[in-house]
Amino acid sequence: MSEQTKLIVEYQEIDKNLKLIEDEVNGSEEAKKYLTARKFLSTVKESLSELEAKAQASTESYNKIVADLEKSLASAKEYEKMVETCESESELDYLKKKFGEVCLQISQLEQTITAISKEMSEIYKEYGKLAQNNKVMRAQYDEYAPKLEELKNSKKEEVSKLKAELKKLEDQIDKALMDKYNVRRKDKKFPVVFGLDLSKKMNYCPFCRTSMPVSFMEELSLGVIKECESCHRLIYGFEPKKK
Ligand SMILES: [Zn+2]
Repeated sequence: MSEQTKLIVEYQEIDKNLKLIEDEVNGSEEAKKYLTARKFLSTVKESLSELEAKAQASTESYNKIVADLEKSLASAKEYEKMVETCESESELDYLKKKFGEVCLQISQLEQTITAISKEMSEIYKEYGKLAQNNKVMRAQYDEYAPKLEELKNSKKEEVSKLKAELKKLEDQIDKALMDKYNVRRKDKKFPVVFGLDLSKKMNYCPFCRTSMPVSFMEELSLGVIKECESCHRLIYGFEPKKK
């Protein structure tokens, strides 16, 4: 095993402990509750203004329809009055026809008003629900943000100790190799580095079982750290120590 391989394997061993702490913190009740609340609060403003815009539009069309209805009611009254004083037969027929048309308009406008009222009450219901959730999530945030902070603080000493150890090793590891490691670590590909027992003559990735070409195996036996083409984990070859 090359010196660089030994170092990166050692690095990963220590990093494993750091990863355990990270997983413990991220998987905790504190983190989950905090994140749910934070996510809700980050979008609630937008949701509220969307609802406000909807309510505004509904109110405007409601007012417009109500004004139309008042006009139609006034015309209906007008025609009614004219019928009372009308003497000509043909004019009377005309007025009756007009009166019928206005009555139809009135009933259509009334239906539209009912529909808009229903829509508005839905919007208000939704608004109320959102406002209630907002209250709950705000309280959850206020409760769990400090709890999460406290949990993180309780690990602080251990974390900085591990980070210091990692830093010491990092200074000895080739930058290109370290970068490769860090990219995978960030992508949550952990463990990053895998050893392949060359004495077993098995030519597949120890993590994902994708088979590897002969040239790949040869390079491994020369001490090169290779990358699996499929899962992109880093692979090194080793021979078990003879007893
Ligand atoms: Zn693989």
